[in-house]
Amino acid sequence: MTVRLATFAVAALLVVLPAGPAAAQNPGDQEERISDPPELRRSLRRVLGGVPMTPADSMRQEIVRRLDFESYKELLRGLTEFGDREQGTARNAAAVDWIEDRLRSWGYETERVRYMYTPRGSDTAEPREEVFGTLVGVTRPDEMYIIGAHMDGRGGGEAANDDGSGTALVLEIARALSSSDIAADRTIRFALWNNEETGLQGAEAYVEQRAELQGIENPPGSGDYPEPRWLGMIQHDMMMWDHGNPVTFGQALDADVDVEFQLASDLAAESAQLGLALINANRMHATDYPAVLSNAMSNTDSTPFMNLTPSVSLRENRRLYETGNGANPHWHQPTDLFETFSDRDFMLGFNAAQTTLGALTELAGIRLVR
Ligand SMILES: [Zn+2]
Repeated sequence: MTVRLATFAVAALLVVLPAGPAAAQNPGDQEERISDPPELRRSLRRVLGGVPMTPADSMRQEIVRRLDFESYKELLRGLTEFGDREQGTARNAAAVDWIEDRLRSWGYETERVRYMYTPRGSDTAEPREEVFGTLVGVTRPDEMYIIGAHMDGRGGGEAANDDGSGTALVLEIARALSSSDIAADRTIRFALWNNEETGLQGAEAYVEQRAELQGIENPPGSGDYPEPRWLGMIQHDMMMWDHGNPVTFGQALDADVDVEFQLASDLAAESAQLGLALINANRMHATDYPAVLSNAMSNTDSTPFMNLTPSVSLRENRRLYETGNGANPHWHQPTDLFETFSDRDFMLGFNAAQTTLGALTELAGIRLVR
């Protein structure tokens, strides 16, 4: 009871305060936040201080601002209409089709990865599919960053946080980059993995089938690279929940975007460098929530990539440290529903989208072409 009262008191304060003098002293900041509901204004700039921006940084920020909070929520809501999207079900197959339709509607060419999966307790392998879309690089089509999330879920609810939140994030970035006045030097692939919940079989199938094809021009002389050389893999899983532990009614006041690499991997140093790029992009481009770096990435779709290319995972709940210790009561439960989450939770996921896109603008050379 005490905890709830305290949370409400803080929420009331936040509603009253942000329009005050602190906001007015930073006109750019105020401008970009003006359309947000007052209770969502936390302003990362006021928490961490500003950073000097070059003209190139400002252009990148303009691209990051193409991300739309309502669009992110709407994509997530669309995904949750397919229930938990458990692998092997009709609702999972329908969700794969829906994701592909979204990507195509924004002008992306899509492709499916087909693989076999043997359900637990069965000795018969069954066909499974997952879909990806690709933004082909203008000057370096042969080099690629992969951003991913798993579209399958479990628990009998709507798998909203795990991992509708990451899937919607990848789709919202794809939508934002589909504008005709945006180009990327390097290729970016939007990968929506299947069979994560059964043991990463979808991401593993991708690595098994395509690692050997990296950087090969096919047909020769065509300028087409079916599998550009991997420069990094950024995974997104469970983006919205940071309610502390013991779990509190509202989002924790120190809620943040967690970025993890795996120390016990062949490319730990390179992956840490990729993680740092995300932390720095968060400081510069995210609006509300800071990011922190950790080294215990595990049990997620970036794992099959980590010895082959720099790999990190963004998750609001670090799987071992937080979710593994009971910090998320909705994890794999029927209560992982769209309606379980507040706008603050959605905004945490949205800040992860700003973080990843901010880093990508620099890493992949995304620019405005007017
Ligand atoms: Zn997950």
